[in-house]
Amino acid sequence: MASNESALGPSAAVRDAIAGAAASVARYPDPLATPLRERLGEHLGVGPDQILVGNGSDELITLLVHAYASFGGSVVVADPPYRLHALTPELQGATVRAIPLRDWTHDLDAMAGTRADLAFICNPHNPTGTVVDAARLARFTERFNGLTAVDEAYVDFTDDPATASALPLAKTGRAVVLRTFSKVHGLAGVRAGYLVGPAEVVTTLRAIRAPFSVNALAQAAALAALGDQEHWQRVREYTRDGRRRIAEIFQAAGYETVPSAANFVLVLVPDERGLVAALAAHGVSVRPGSSLGVPGSVRVSVPSPDGLARLEQAVSAIADGTASVAKASNSSRPVLIS
Ligand SMILES: *Cc1c(COP(=O)(O)O)cnc(C)c1O
Repeated sequence: MASNESALGPSAAVRDAIAGAAASVARYPDPLATPLRERLGEHLGVGPDQILVGNGSDELITLLVHAYASFGGSVVVADPPYRLHALTPELQGATVRAIPLRDWTHDLDAMAGTRADLAFICNPHNPTGTVVDAARLARFTERFNGLTAVDEAYVDFTDDPATASALPLAKTGRAVVLRTFSKVHGLAGVRAGYLVGPAEVVTTLRAIRAPFSVNALAQAAALAALGDQEHWQRVREYTRDGRRRIAEIFQAAGYETVPSAANFVLVLVPDERGLVAALAAHGVSVRPGSSLGVPGSVRVSVPSPDGLARLEQAVSAIADGTASVAKASNSSRPVLIS
């Protein structure tokens, strides 16, 4: 429950598509993933010349920074950011300006007033799971003086992806949007993501990318995943129920949680290291908040149904243990904690 992967995995159609594509791996892949871009274009209502497919959205983040902010440029991100939105520019010699979240949410006013060549807005935000609405993003693009990139890795899990998304801004050339097949589509292991934005941005990034970064199996898998909207719907609903359950489980044990629009929940905990270790002892792996820039928290991804049952059992056992320690220390009798 530490890496925000899909609990339900990919569509069954993906396995067949990968098996089918395996017969042709002696050939180089389509460098521009044209059938996939065409399919995405129909799906999103945008021309294929406004889409670039990458080796996960990680590659697209690297290309954006390289083209628009490296060699002394600057990037504005939230503090805490999605790690790669800050690490990538740091590695490429750009200045990173990190603007603290307010109430766990992007402070878009402060970010818009910051001089930078490129802005990364993570919506929903990782690691908090909060969202900003598209109208506020539109106002941001009017004020900000650089290129706006909105990372929508988790947009499928929001209440209404159509209104949360900055896609209309990307279509009209005011922003770029990053999407991935790693989360709702369950393809984290094959590496495929895409960017939607102004054709000039796509042309610029094409000029500096490695031509064969998106392999043939990934292209086939992504195309098959897009074709199974029922699976998309099923994963979306399962995930939304699952994150509600995670919040309930932790709240029942006395923890506060940040309201999430993603496939994970940030839980505020007084003793982060203690809880991470106690959960690990029950076979539950979560992401320590201090590794994400939020000390005093843990990030818990929506797991399989079995995982959810195990989490519930673990959290209630830990809460009981804490209660019995408190009782024991009142009566000053030693006690074993399970
Ligand atoms: C998981 C995640 C991604 C996905 O990256 P890929 O390289 O496509 O696997 C992108 N952005 C954010 C904020 C994420 O959390």
